[in-house]
Amino acid sequence: MTTPAAKKRVLSGMRSTGKLHLGNYVGALENWVRMQDQYDCFFFIADWHALTTDYADTSMLKENSVEVLLDWLAAGLDPSKCVMFIQSHVPVHAELHLLLSMITPLGWLERVPSYKEQKENIKEKDLGTYGFLGYPVLQAADILIYKADFVPVGEDQVAHVELTREIARRFNGFYPADKVGSVVRVLDGQSASVFPEPQSLLTPAPRLPGTDGRKMSKSYGNAIMLTDPEPVVRQKLKTMVTDPARVRRSDPGNPDICPVGDLHKIFSDKETLARVDLGCRSAGIGCIECKGWVADPIVKLLIPMQERRKKYEDNPRLAWDILEAGSARAREVAGATMDEVRDAMGISLAYEPPRGSKK
Ligand code: SF4
Repeated sequence: MTTPAAKKRVLSGMRSTGKLHLGNYVGALENWVRMQDQYDCFFFIADWHALTTDYADTSMLKENSVEVLLDWLAAGLDPSKCVMFIQSHVPVHAELHLLLSMITPLGWLERVPSYKEQKENIKEKDLGTYGFLGYPVLQAADILIYKADFVPVGEDQVAHVELTREIARRFNGFYPADKVGSVVRVLDGQSASVFPEPQSLLTPAPRLPGTDGRKMSKSYGNAIMLTDPEPVVRQKLKTMVTDPARVRRSDPGNPDICPVGDLHKIFSDKETLARVDLGCRSAGIGCIECKGWVADPIVKLLIPMQERRKKYEDNPRLAWDILEAGSARAREVAGATMDEVRDAMGISLAYEPPRGSKK
């Protein structure tokens, strides 16, 4: 794989939640596929992050990681263009997490918006754990260990990248690369800071409604999976909620307040959008017909993905080999950063003679 030095590095990850749905595709994966041509991309399956909330039952964790990879490959991520790996296969993420956790003030973590929000909303699990509070530090380690220039995020995750920048700044302040304790070192062309501060790369992520009108999510049971065969996709869309004003076929509706209308805006071409707008507002079309029109481009998008996926489903070793090669490459890059980190902190693995000794 060629990774031209001129390309900026992008780092992003997804939790190992198993098979992905259309919302994951539109919200992230579609952008990743585009980005692999422009950036030096590292994409990881965050199995340790999955543990921060789903620690009690790990029986599906590994299988879920592989399912995520299969959907990535199905969507068009290409191992010759980007690095795909599993977080837990690069154990130095944990070492950096530990070191960063030493310098991260508790208050920074307690004020992360998603910490409070999830603790309040997820009642069925005990999230009063050390791992859950510290997951933004793990996230910072994931990003900083690759010296990523950009982290693609939606608006709601900008705070996490900001926290990563703060942690990087604090680390660079305590441990400048050109000084260990009182010893000033001459650096060979390196920057005096170990970590560059990553930038958020705001990516378009339209909110994709599920079949019940709420945000598409596996946990709501309203998702269209990337692996759903055509009849299942069509059936799910048939049951999708619509503008409640259209009780009878003759009632006019409004596609701007209908979840099916939202899907049209994402997947349909201009002519179809115009036909939906006119037909819905004048009661010239029925909802079933309208849902059929949106099913067409969705099915057209999914079929080639499912064909690509099949190649790896038939030969799962092929997919695993891609992960292993990606994890090896990630270990190389992350390992080099860890050498710098240990060096800057004065805990390098190399032999150093006792001070004042000549040996
Ligand atoms: S015609 Fe289409 S956009 Fe209008 S309410 Fe029915 S499903 Fe929604």
